[in-house]
Amino acid sequence: MRRGSRQKQSRLAALAWALNGLAIVALFVILVVYFTHQAAEAAPGPLLLSKGTPRATITAAPTSFYLPSITPNPLATVVEDYSTPTPFLFADGPAPGVIGYSVEGRTINLYSFGQGELHYLIVAGIHGGYEGNTVDLANQFLVYLNAHPATVPSGVTLYIIPDMNPDAVARGRNAGARVNANGVDLNRNFPTRNWVADWDHSNCWNERPTTGGNSRGSEPETRAVVNFILGHRIEAMISYHSAALGVFPGGDPWQPASERLASALSTVTGYPYPPLDIGCTYTGTLADWAVESGVGAAVDMELANHHDPDFARNIKALRILVNFLAD
Ligand SMILES: [Zn+2]
Repeated sequence: MRRGSRQKQSRLAALAWALNGLAIVALFVILVVYFTHQAAEAAPGPLLLSKGTPRATITAAPTSFYLPSITPNPLATVVEDYSTPTPFLFADGPAPGVIGYSVEGRTINLYSFGQGELHYLIVAGIHGGYEGNTVDLANQFLVYLNAHPATVPSGVTLYIIPDMNPDAVARGRNAGARVNANGVDLNRNFPTRNWVADWDHSNCWNERPTTGGNSRGSEPETRAVVNFILGHRIEAMISYHSAALGVFPGGDPWQPASERLASALSTVTGYPYPPLDIGCTYTGTLADWAVESGVGAAVDMELANHHDPDFARNIKALRILVNFLAD
């Protein structure tokens, strides 16, 4: 009996070792599958940036949503993936997409409100420096829309690019901070039919030397906005400036739908329309390029001064914009 008992014990021990071995093999297989999966998830997606454009480190927001998939515009030649999230200003708000990077590598952010088919766009900060109050206004829009999402009608998506020229805004509120880090006036760099590198500065802003760029759309900030607009069907848009000259319709000559939008915005804001004519010829502007490129209506709109974001008047302007039909 004792001998038989020992044999039984050694069989049990062998069985236990076999089970241990199986468990170790199974654990190993699970670990291999897990880490392979993690590595696949961690692999960065393609960032379709221009040659030499620096990449920023991007951290996911605690709460984030992604831009809707891009509806190709028949006029589009470039469609980029700008769904990469970065943190929103506010912990409970939506995360922006990044549509590109400035000369100095700052992100150019895009916020999106609503999920509708009709798309509208607000761009602020194209001129930094003294026009930094346009960025203040855009940030106030973000706070307001986050708290009052019903401002954007159903059927509408509103995009906001709150700071198109972040290098300039970072340099402060002075005359030298109007242009981008290459010294280019971004609102003269868009690839319009009327683009020129240089112009008669005598009746225009001339506090510092500046150019329209080495070529049409030469600047990374310009290309970021061009690529975004070409990837979307924008019904109407406002590009914000300051100060005081009024509302300028897009188009050279002015396009009728943009004139109609300018007039409607003037009515609710009190900003002059037709805009004040100071004898300056504008070339390569965002609003002109937008209407040449399929945007239904576009305006350059100037706040009343260089300080006040003028929120009370401009929330009315925002309501006009998101209800405007170009046709
Ligand atoms: Zn301006």
